[in-house]
Amino acid sequence: MTEHHQQNMDLSTPVQFAKGVGPAKAKTFAALEVHTLGDLLDYFPRTYSFLPEPIKIKDLHPNENACTVGIVEQTEVLEYRRPRMFKFTLADDTGLIQVIFFNSTYLKNQIEPGMIVAIHGKPALYKKHLQITNPKFVILNEEQSAEPSSLGGPTYPATANLSSRQIRAILHPLLNELVPCINELYDEQFRKKTELIARTNAYRWIHDPADEDQLACAKRRLKYDELFLMQLGLALKRYQLQHTAPATQMKTSPAIDSRIRKRFPFLLTEDQNTVIEEIVNDMQGTTPMNRLLQGDVGSGKTVVALYAALLAVANKTQAAIMAPTEILATQHLLSIEKFLKGSKVKTALITGRMPAKERKQIIADTLAGNINILVGTVALLNENIDFKDLGVVIVDEQHKFGVHQRAKLRKAKAPHCLVMTATPIPRTLAMTAFGDLDVSVIKHAPPGRGKVVTRKVKPQDRTAAYEFIRQRLRAKKQAYFVYPRIDNDDETSDIKSATQEHTALSKKIFPEFKVDLLHGQMSADDKKQAMQRFRQGKTDILVSTVVIEVGVDVPNATIMVIEHADHFGLAQLHQLRGRVGRGQSNSYCLLFADTDNEIALSRLEVMTRSNDGFEIAEHDLRLRGPGELFSTRQHGLPDLKIANIIEDFDLLTLARKNAFEMVKKDHLLKDPKHKNIKEELIIKLGEKLGLVNIA
Ligand code: ADP
Ligand code: MG
Repeated sequence: MTEHHQQNMDLSTPVQFAKGVGPAKAKTFAALEVHTLGDLLDYFPRTYSFLPEPIKIKDLHPNENACTVGIVEQTEVLEYRRPRMFKFTLADDTGLIQVIFFNSTYLKNQIEPGMIVAIHGKPALYKKHLQITNPKFVILNEEQSAEPSSLGGPTYPATANLSSRQIRAILHPLLNELVPCINELYDEQFRKKTELIARTNAYRWIHDPADEDQLACAKRRLKYDELFLMQLGLALKRYQLQHTAPATQMKTSPAIDSRIRKRFPFLLTEDQNTVIEEIVNDMQGTTPMNRLLQGDVGSGKTVVALYAALLAVANKTQAAIMAPTEILATQHLLSIEKFLKGSKVKTALITGRMPAKERKQIIADTLAGNINILVGTVALLNENIDFKDLGVVIVDEQHKFGVHQRAKLRKAKAPHCLVMTATPIPRTLAMTAFGDLDVSVIKHAPPGRGKVVTRKVKPQDRTAAYEFIRQRLRAKKQAYFVYPRIDNDDETSDIKSATQEHTALSKKIFPEFKVDLLHGQMSADDKKQAMQRFRQGKTDILVSTVVIEVGVDVPNATIMVIEHADHFGLAQLHQLRGRVGRGQSNSYCLLFADTDNEIALSRLEVMTRSNDGFEIAEHDLRLRGPGELFSTRQHGLPDLKIANIIEDFDLLTLARKNAFEMVKKDHLLKDPKHKNIKEELIIKLGEKLGLVNIA
């Protein structure tokens, strides 16, 4: 280690000043989000191999696992044997061993005579000679073979310009210098209680573990830190959202409550009542409500939302209801108007496409307070629509409604905020992606709904399935046909598309019925009209893509056909299926799939077995990971580097509890005991979450 290093290197030193890193490599590192030596320490290996200390070939014994290093003497490919074989002789100054690989003849291009190779495995006796079959192996360079301790060890995620070996060669010599710069975050007592090792050890061992135990301890500690900081960021963000500006305290009374309930032509379900109680409770406080309402499709969330809106209106404030698309916004307005028929409550729809004059009028009326409930798309947020007194904001089906957007809603006076989603969010995700929200759940749909029967349809049963559909259509029921794509641009592909199949269905297969088309590339007006015709029963079959995924509500539609069902995610299939089963008669979801893929088939099997969105979502999560929709990044949080919210659920729960407790006691992290935590949080999350207030 040079003088220069000792004087200058610390965690904030730009990575460019590390030995072996020049401007070009620094650029490559920057692409990996490694800017400082601290970032480099946070660049964790992906895998490890723990090779034991190598021994001499003469000391190898049959059936004893060992590692040895030697020179490759002779290689041979036995092409015509079954199984095919690649073998070579490895020699050191004490003896020889035969090394054999079955079915891996490509290795002849990697392993050549004269190379120095380490092998690890269990030798066996074959015709009195020692040989070893399919060992783990590492091709070494001269330096490494002189220093056996550098065998195995960590492998870093590499890129084209930066190999794992290079990263290791840059970082490992710095460990002695950098690790002592790391600050501990928690006191001794806490670490004892939670069985977390010292942070310095964790960093040393994650990069250079002596054995699996050290690695496991290091991982646990670093995962906890990562989850804790994330939760702390969320807890602080939540605190800030709730305390920058007070919300209107909504008053309620039995009279107000029954006046609102009279608007609904049915009794609310137990779940709806519970959720309404939670919402009313929130809205009675000066702390703005920040609640996520989850409920499967058709579970009756809109009614709950309308209750919240009407409570705000009863308190002389306004409500905004936002949907992700114009179709859905329109539909919200229609159903709200139905409930509000004959009342004095003024509603309006605002869209991007309406004539400028009309739009201007609505904006003026909103500002004057003449409109009580304004419905629109999320674009409402981005345009400067000012309310006279906005009491509550309700956001429907908006998974991408992140921390930042919610922050944007808070003005001088903060509205209460209710986010609704029909995508069942497993608990793990509710705690991370939506970690700063309170959660309410509607578990059971209103009574009197028909069942939804789900079936897989194999290619040979297609005709029978069409016949079945024909009978339902004759009984005046309606059907959705959903395709994975709008158009088939690729002639060679046999994936059906909505546009082409629309023609086939209307001309050939169901010529006696009205078949209509709806997809995302149509103009808003055409989409609206197609939707309207279907809603009014003028169309029998609506051919579409996933645009009908959310919120569309046509009770008479009882058939959902999904073509190439294996191309959709489970959560998506469940969403699509939710379009039917909204009326009293039974509905059918037919999953067409032409595949032998076991995983695909087992996923479809889950669909036929379960109607429980949460169960399906857990399945999906396990099969595919959190995915785009729920990636933490999508929600304004950084991606996790080492923790995994599914596998590390227990740590996540612990971290969340501790983080929220800490913020409750010390929301500015002013306590000197929290100094290091605060510094770390600002480095890691400050910018992402805009945690300016605590800085
Ligand atoms: P979601 O928004 O959760 O998908 P909706 O609120 O649109 O569900 O409700 C679906 C349908 O169920 C609507 O037609 C609605 O009028 C009806 N509904 C809602 N709550 C009840 C209830 N308690 N009893 C009977 N029908 C209800
Ligand atoms: Mg809805």
